[in-house]
Amino acid sequence: MRGAMGGPRLLLRRLREVMAEPVSAQARLDRIVIHIAANMVAEVCSVYVLRSDGQLELYATEGLNREAVHLTTLTTSEGLVGLIAEKAEALALADAQAHPSFSYRPETGEEIYQSFLGVPILRGGNTLGVLVVQNRARRTYSEEEVEALQTTAMLLAEMIASGELQSLAQPGQSLSLQKPMALRGSPLSEGVGLGHVVLHEPRIVIKQLVAEDPAAETRRLDQAIAAMREQIDMLIARGDRYGAGEHRDVLETVRMFANDRGWLRRLREALESGLTAEAAVERVQNDARAKLQRQTDPYLRERLHDLDDLANRLLQQLTGQGAAHGGSLPANAVLVARNMGPAALLEYDRANLRGLVLEDGGPTSHVAIIARALGIPAIGEVQSITDLVETGDPIIVDGATGEVQLRPPPDVEAAYGEKARLRARRQEQYHKLRDVPAVTRDGVRVGLHMNAGLLIDCQHVAEAGAQSIGLFRTELQFMVASSFPRLSEQYALYKKVIEVSDGRPVTFRTLDIGSDKVLPYMAKMEEENPALGWRAIRIGLDRPGLLRMQLRAMLRAGAGREMRIMFPMVATTAEFSQAKAVCEREIEFLRRHDYELPTELKLGVMVEVPSLLWQLDEICGLADFLSVGSNDLTQYLFAVDRDNKRVAARFDTLSPPNLRALKSIVDVAARHRTPVTLCGEMGGKPLEAIALAAIGYRGLSMAPSAIGPVKAAILATDLKATREFLTPMIDRPDDLVSVRHELRCFAERFGVPL
Ligand code: PEP
Ligand code: MG
Repeated sequence: MRGAMGGPRLLLRRLREVMAEPVSAQARLDRIVIHIAANMVAEVCSVYVLRSDGQLELYATEGLNREAVHLTTLTTSEGLVGLIAEKAEALALADAQAHPSFSYRPETGEEIYQSFLGVPILRGGNTLGVLVVQNRARRTYSEEEVEALQTTAMLLAEMIASGELQSLAQPGQSLSLQKPMALRGSPLSEGVGLGHVVLHEPRIVIKQLVAEDPAAETRRLDQAIAAMREQIDMLIARGDRYGAGEHRDVLETVRMFANDRGWLRRLREALESGLTAEAAVERVQNDARAKLQRQTDPYLRERLHDLDDLANRLLQQLTGQGAAHGGSLPANAVLVARNMGPAALLEYDRANLRGLVLEDGGPTSHVAIIARALGIPAIGEVQSITDLVETGDPIIVDGATGEVQLRPPPDVEAAYGEKARLRARRQEQYHKLRDVPAVTRDGVRVGLHMNAGLLIDCQHVAEAGAQSIGLFRTELQFMVASSFPRLSEQYALYKKVIEVSDGRPVTFRTLDIGSDKVLPYMAKMEEENPALGWRAIRIGLDRPGLLRMQLRAMLRAGAGREMRIMFPMVATTAEFSQAKAVCEREIEFLRRHDYELPTELKLGVMVEVPSLLWQLDEICGLADFLSVGSNDLTQYLFAVDRDNKRVAARFDTLSPPNLRALKSIVDVAARHRTPVTLCGEMGGKPLEAIALAAIGYRGLSMAPSAIGPVKAAILATDLKATREFLTPMIDRPDDLVSVRHELRCFAERFGVPL
């Protein structure tokens, strides 16, 4: 029987029957090992299950001493079994005892067995256990036998994942699948969220592992591969982006893999061992994951994503399952995804969403911007998270620190629960301050405004306690769209923004795209230095059609009211004059066509390119208001990429040169009586906000969630004393790198909440 194709198929059929029997988990396992040993003509078959403490415990055996079951344990660095678990690779040895890793366990009585074949029990590339057969006589296991055992291990993986074996764990022990894990990623959006895992792309459930009719399975696989290839070709031909907002090069790579002979051969081999088409795809993908996950080369790890993508597409074809989740969510859902487009996140039911964890997704990714706008705690760059979770697993997201607690033990959960409650209490206190103006202890009022970019943000303007929308980033609409928003769409959004802002002024900023803000439907520019390249107003002036369309939409939306518009990344007064001229042309156009115009138009400039610091008198003469974009201004002043973690710690916004630069802007603007606000991230941090108020800023625009903490700090500040404390350090800094420490101590001494 051995070696014939009937062997593994027959075994799988038997095992399927065993799986359906109404017996205890231990009895089922015991029967499984008997069947495997008999089918493979081996004297021994054993199952080791990986526990959460890293030990491999003998769970069942045929042939070894049964007394050793649940007693014998090995670490993953011990013995042949440990080696298989660690490497997640099969191991076949004719003379096991000659292997340097062989470790003898007297209680098992295994010294008499010469030959050894072991395979990892894998799920999503993670080892859950090890399945072993042993023979007394020296023998070489064939490729087919290794395959057959690997296929059988899939059944055991299902059994472990279903939770059935948990009942066999000794008191205080749990299986590695239920192991609590603390993971770390990059903080994307603040807040603490506790809930249960919902996979954005649900893992496809393979209902049938064993083929009834092998020929039919081969046909199904062939058809699915053909359909998938056609689908990829079509997407490439259409030049579309798909799902996660990825691009053509991703699809090209996936197409390349879909035609890879090695991959196709492995699929056929898996089919031949008696699996259904979908189980074969999963088998091959499990092996690929196990190998690639252990690679440190980022290029190879990236390829794993492409292979995953390929396998998922194929599984979707075969099962009709697995389309991205979208829409409704169970209560307290924490979404987990490899990546997600901004539009996909917006489709979820917010009321039940407690957090978001992504495997990719850096702090400037579009989905991160949306998460912040929605106030959902979010973490990005959490390695392998989609492989580590199961739907429904308890999970905690701490968006401030970037920590993810998966399946947390009760004390950890309690600690985070307390943290979330504290935060909620603080929010409540901020809420009480909502209608209190931000006035310092010595009577100076600082206007607090909010940054927005979506309609949903603007709805919160009153609730956030903001005086106005100090910065409306219009590019977000462009970034979440799948094609260029038309004039009518732009107009409709701006009009609604004005409406929901409930009488509070809105400062619209014209399109700030380029650099990191790429539009998926716009031809990608290859630039050496995109941050210094073709972006924002530069595109607007070179392609005035685009700028004109946007200005027309804004001016029409502002009919009959005061309208505020500002231009980003202006480097010279001439650029501002040109932009102003484009705007005047549009006003002329609208007037000629009898459109109602804004009652008053204020045109402002963002101060975020350092060259403008030496044209401040002139720009104040031209612009109605200034808005300091400290995010960009700081990156250009210090020549430090704002998104590069490696250099981020090398400068501080509270350094004397930065504060001097910021002070010079507010000083000149005051001389000209030109209103100035600051709308970078800096203004949303309590300590920085105090420093800015002390050097003369009377208007700060920030994320809505920052208004409460900043207001609380300002209310507790004595501005005169703070200014007197700060000024000498800014004027005569010696070699002081930052005033942060000194200012913090000063503020804390006066009980300012920071
Ligand atoms: C800034 O640069 O500070 C700013 C507010 O604009 P953005 O972050 O959109 O570049
Ligand atoms: Mg900017």
